[in-house]
Amino acid sequence: MLTKLKKILEGQPAYRYKQVNEALFKSLVSNWDEVSNLPKELKEKLSQDFPLEINAKIFKEPRVMKALIELEDGICIESVLMMYEKRNSICVSSQAGCALGCTFCATGQNGFKRNLTVWEMIVQVLFFARLFKEKGERIDNIVFMGMGEPFLNIDNVLEAIKILNDKDGFNIGARSISVSTVGITEGIKRLSDFPIQVNLAVSLHSPDDKVRSQLMPINKKYSLEKIFMAIDNYIIKTNRKVMLEYIMIENVTDKIKMAKELAVLIKSLEKPLVMVNMIPYNESGVISKYKPSSPERMEEFKMILIREGIDCIMRRSFGTTIAGACGQLAGKES
Ligand code: SAH
Ligand code: SF4
Repeated sequence: MLTKLKKILEGQPAYRYKQVNEALFKSLVSNWDEVSNLPKELKEKLSQDFPLEINAKIFKEPRVMKALIELEDGICIESVLMMYEKRNSICVSSQAGCALGCTFCATGQNGFKRNLTVWEMIVQVLFFARLFKEKGERIDNIVFMGMGEPFLNIDNVLEAIKILNDKDGFNIGARSISVSTVGITEGIKRLSDFPIQVNLAVSLHSPDDKVRSQLMPINKKYSLEKIFMAIDNYIIKTNRKVMLEYIMIENVTDKIKMAKELAVLIKSLEKPLVMVNMIPYNESGVISKYKPSSPERMEEFKMILIREGIDCIMRRSFGTTIAGACGQLAGKES
């Protein structure tokens, strides 16, 4: 349970915790007044110290919704809901902005504001869960792939995952929760020791340190060699498959020789239990010189990996008209 809520409930009988969790995560109330089984004074205290209203604007496409959520201090963050055929997935932000400045990403180009609290991450899921309750639908899947680098806010991210996974919380299965990192190796190590077995995704984007450093300045600190060592250790320890994200930018990351180099890198792993997730580059309005690869080139790139025996899928681009696709979250109205 959230520390702040725990504090408020101090001295209350133990069953109150369950009642409060149920109200929050099962009944999905947006106002403590709606909860009938709590005493009036407690409800007043909760309304005062732990308000449930969420201040958000929604942008819609047929299968995507983006929420621009205003936090207590006026900072705005974005979360995206994707409605697939068989599941509803939410892309959660872990930071307001991002300090890492990847050159292809709108979040990175707008700088860093601050880390999000556990509650601010939970609120993003609550917002859509409340909307969906009316339709009788639920949230099945969570990806920490919104604004920010999850492993630079790892304590809060892991705490949020506990609540998402908790039977008395959202009750979302570990296998339906994924975290994406640029390759902060300390974070990869910590996730391998974390008891809830969520999925790990690593943003690779290039098999070449020089190119990767141009795209992602953080590569100077966490080089491919270090990242691959961390991935190897992670797989050996957990025996879980790692997803390698690979953004397809014309003439930058999509050269044929790069597909071959990528295959060599992957096969250098002691236990190459990985799959490549190719992401078509989405225009992020920051660096106009980047263009998405052609569909033909993407297919060719994919076939090289598959012929090398490497699992590979193409990510569908969702939400481009509402600036809600990968790399387009800027935390402001566009
Ligand atoms: N900071 C983390 C998680 C958030 S970004 C990370 O970088 O992994 C989620 C994914 O979207 C990452 O793989 C990121 O590289 C990718 N991405 C960023 N900008 C993009 C763009 N313009 N087009 C396509 N994918 C992009
Ligand atoms: Fe930050 Fe990820 Fe964007 Fe890079 S891609 S700037 S790490 S959010």
